[in-house]
Amino acid sequence: CTFDWTVCAFHQGSGGSLGVLCREVDWFSLSGVILLLCTAPFQVFFFVMACDQYQCSVTQPLVELYSGEATLGSIWDKAPSFTWTAAQIYTAWVSLQVVLYMCVPDITHKFLPGYSGGVQDGARTPAGLINKYEINGLQSWLITHALWYANAKYFHWFSPTIIFDNWIPLLWCTNILGYSVSTFAFIKAYLFPTNAEDCKFTGNVFYNYMMGIEFNPRIGKWFDFKLFFNGRPGIVAWTLINLSYAAKQQELYGYVTNSMILVNVLQGIYVLDFFWNEAWYLKTIDICHDHFGWYLGWGDCVWLPFLYTLQGLYLVYNPVQLSTAHAAAVLLLGLTGYYIFRSANHQKDLFRRTDGKCSIWGKKPTFIECAYRSADGCLHHSKLMTSGFWGVARHLNYTGDLMGSLAYCVACGFGHIHPYFYIFYMTILLVHRCVRDEHRCRSKYGKDWKRYTDAVPYRLLPGIF
Ligand code: NDP
Repeated sequence: CTFDWTVCAFHQGSGGSLGVLCREVDWFSLSGVILLLCTAPFQVFFFVMACDQYQCSVTQPLVELYSGEATLGSIWDKAPSFTWTAAQIYTAWVSLQVVLYMCVPDITHKFLPGYSGGVQDGARTPAGLINKYEINGLQSWLITHALWYANAKYFHWFSPTIIFDNWIPLLWCTNILGYSVSTFAFIKAYLFPTNAEDCKFTGNVFYNYMMGIEFNPRIGKWFDFKLFFNGRPGIVAWTLINLSYAAKQQELYGYVTNSMILVNVLQGIYVLDFFWNEAWYLKTIDICHDHFGWYLGWGDCVWLPFLYTLQGLYLVYNPVQLSTAHAAAVLLLGLTGYYIFRSANHQKDLFRRTDGKCSIWGKKPTFIECAYRSADGCLHHSKLMTSGFWGVARHLNYTGDLMGSLAYCVACGFGHIHPYFYIFYMTILLVHRCVRDEHRCRSKYGKDWKRYTDAVPYRLLPGIF
């Protein structure tokens, strides 16, 4: 990881901070940013409200609005509002995650073979720093789920359906945290940045707010905003939210459908994979290249827990019992997608860690030698692998991710479009990410990137795209 390879120059920011001033934001990007800032919270509300008021039909509210049967005001009035109970639940939840993140150093790496936890180095930042991270996400996940289980089985302090029962009030609480943390990070970047040299100013206030200025904002030595908000409270909550949906099905119908079990299992594998590989995650685009703004802060607090769990929510309102063949096809698609996703990521990680001195699919990997200059003008060398999954297409890890995402949706049957939002969203996210990443790599490696794309011509689907 090195510099953000857009046209950037060092810049003296207000408060004397030295940051990076990147080229002006074009109108297209700016319109996208403003549109997202204004509409994303309503999109989340729409999908959750559609289940609450219209049994997850996304067309019915639009039809009623069009015919005048409903108004925006009447829909809004029918939605549950903020409650202090939800605020207490959410405060307790976030506080628990902060305590587990900050106060319980990782011990799982001492007895789990092959797991990298504890203090780990991040990638080099554009300013040349290497941050240290306490990797204890797996441990936090295990403790949180053990507490959840102990409560459901023995203590009965709260109902396992507590999350579902407070879902829309919790939406308001997550929005308060999401906006507060993004605004705090924005102000902090101007007034007391953690590393002024790693700040990126675009000259456009909306863009700065949304895409972030600071690269790795921290409070104190260890509270890293990106690592905390990306992983917890959102991703730890993901599996608990799904369990709460399953508990609600049990309460309402007296049974849990096989579709709900499939969604819980497949998404559970994805979440556990994330925490098992949390140290690897320090080398992904989110940590290596993205700055911390509303996109990550609000997205992790609100978008992720509410929209990544739509399938389970849908199944509470529309229980679907799949035929054995349908369930088996979903499982196969989900596990194949996961296998490609994990293996492709693993191959690149192994290749980069060993500098190409490894075996990929039983052979020495082939690669293209690349050269690039960092911000300080120094010449560096790198390698782009052209064998294994990385020889089939340039982002087969995204393709595997998309196959898994499709499996969650297909698990809900074909009755409504609502649970399919996730695959539409993931396709847009990962195709956009692919284009963004390739733009950066082209600027970074120049003609060497061209040699790579000649050798591996397709991005996601060999022969098609
Ligand atoms: P990648 O892990 O694909 O990393 C891309 C980087 O890898 C490039 O910038 C380049 O970095 C390097 N690279 C590209 N091609 C090669 C090659 N052939 N050989 C060696 N190195 C190469 O991207 P992400 O960080 O975006 O994704 C990580 C995983 O996270 C993916 O599997 C993705 O599906 C998943 N993800 C999931 C999301 C979700 O919401 N569920 C959101 C985002 C990601 P360099 O500059 O070092 O050369």
